[in-house]
Amino acid sequence: MAHTPYPQSYYAFSAHPAAERPALQGEQDTDVCIVGAGYTGLSSALFLLEHGFRVTVLEAAKVGFGASGRNGGQIVNSYSRDIDVIERSAPPKAAALMAQMAFEGGRIIRERIARYRIACDLKDGGIFAAFTDKQMRHLETQKSLWERHGHTQLELLDRQAIRRCVASEGYIGGLLDRSGGHIHPLNLALGEAAAVESLGGRIHEQSPVIRIERGSTLRLHTPHGQVRARFAIVAGNAYLGNLLPELAAKSMPCGSQVIATEPLDEASARALLPGDHCVEDCNYLLDYFRLSADRRLIYGGGVTYGARDPSDIVSIIRPKMLRTFPQLQDTRIDFAWTGNFLLTLSRLPQVGRLGDNLYYSQGCSGHGVTYTHLAGKVLAEALRGQAERFDAFASLPHYPFPGGRLLRVPLTALGACYYQLRDCLGL
Ligand SMILES: Cc1cc2nc3c(=O)[nH]c(=O)nc-3n(C[C@H](O)[C@H](O)[C@H](O)COP(=O)(O)OP(=O)(O)OC[C@H]3O[C@@H](n4cnc5c(N)ncnc54)[C@H](O)[C@@H]3O)c2cc1C
Repeated sequence: MAHTPYPQSYYAFSAHPAAERPALQGEQDTDVCIVGAGYTGLSSALFLLEHGFRVTVLEAAKVGFGASGRNGGQIVNSYSRDIDVIERSAPPKAAALMAQMAFEGGRIIRERIARYRIACDLKDGGIFAAFTDKQMRHLETQKSLWERHGHTQLELLDRQAIRRCVASEGYIGGLLDRSGGHIHPLNLALGEAAAVESLGGRIHEQSPVIRIERGSTLRLHTPHGQVRARFAIVAGNAYLGNLLPELAAKSMPCGSQVIATEPLDEASARALLPGDHCVEDCNYLLDYFRLSADRRLIYGGGVTYGARDPSDIVSIIRPKMLRTFPQLQDTRIDFAWTGNFLLTLSRLPQVGRLGDNLYYSQGCSGHGVTYTHLAGKVLAEALRGQAERFDAFASLPHYPFPGGRLLRVPLTALGACYYQLRDCLGL
């Protein structure tokens, strides 16, 4: 049987040991079958199990194999497009609900870590770093907007204040979100998977769902088995392929690349990021970085539209890292990897139901660590008959990418070049 291992990332290297979970063999009945053991699938499973549902999770490869086990580890609140954009595209009541929920995902992560004692190196505080006056004005507006919806714990940083947090000369200021933070993403996923099993949930790895037979009882087929379920949640995100053709045209897998340095000595690490916050900049194609628990700098950036795997990740990301931190010129790079996230045209999540019982949530477009945890709660509420918050997300309109399957990648890349140029020119 084909066996898909983790990519060779720093996270796989430093993951807590976990036993192999057996592939699905034969037939099984359950209340809810979940496709994908990333944060969306695992968060949904936990909320459902906590409310008495029987749950089976089918994972094509391994727990946290997708973006959830490869990301920057940054707990970034809100969504990839902010509340003002949502207010312009969703009905007023739905927009107000989504604004209220914008910081809930981060709280869910912290509750999960505390309740299930998940060891994943949680640190508090995330910074959005501005290069230009325009970006700084945007952060000021964002702070007011978030505060209007009750999300406080935010602090604007001027040039001196951000310099005290990040040893880089490029930023003119920033916004510190004290309710942001960072984690070891794969260990968070593995801890959540163990919590799912502690509540009686089943997880089968190496069990790709190859077909879903729809009807009042859903049948999810893998190469060697079948699960019959009253409900299903499809949480395969950028790795789903064409399992649900209805969704594929309105979303596009994209890659982002990450490197990890050798461990820095304590003084150098503290000099680089004295507050141990995570940082992402405000450019359209943004860079993001933080320290790991063993003091490596984990630095990500770049987007490959269409999710092609670049052949030499270090040659793409190391120059970005050195532009931010020239002091790391002689620091060794120990790991480099790529992962896929799912982009939608609006950059807002694609959430809904096909028929009465086949649910999905995907496409958080780059910022998904918090949203996916919220999504699990909102999906579980919908299955329990409380669909108000689910309906708010489901009301967001989604459109196919211009250019169809053939031209959407070059057209989107061209659009991104335009925004990148504006960032370079400070417009
Ligand atoms: C490199 C990178 C860096 C990022 N950094 C950040 C960050 O710092 N902060 C942030 O907020 N967001 C970040 N993101 C985004 C964030 O990681 C994702 O939005 C989030 O993890 C998506 O979770 P998910 O569960 O929806 O999907 P995934 O984690 O991708 O999980 C989907 C799972 O479904 C499985 N699957 C797919 N198809 C099938 C099938 N047919 N049958 C069975 N299983 C299937 C896959 O194997 C996979 O394990 C980053 C993303 C990437 C790629």
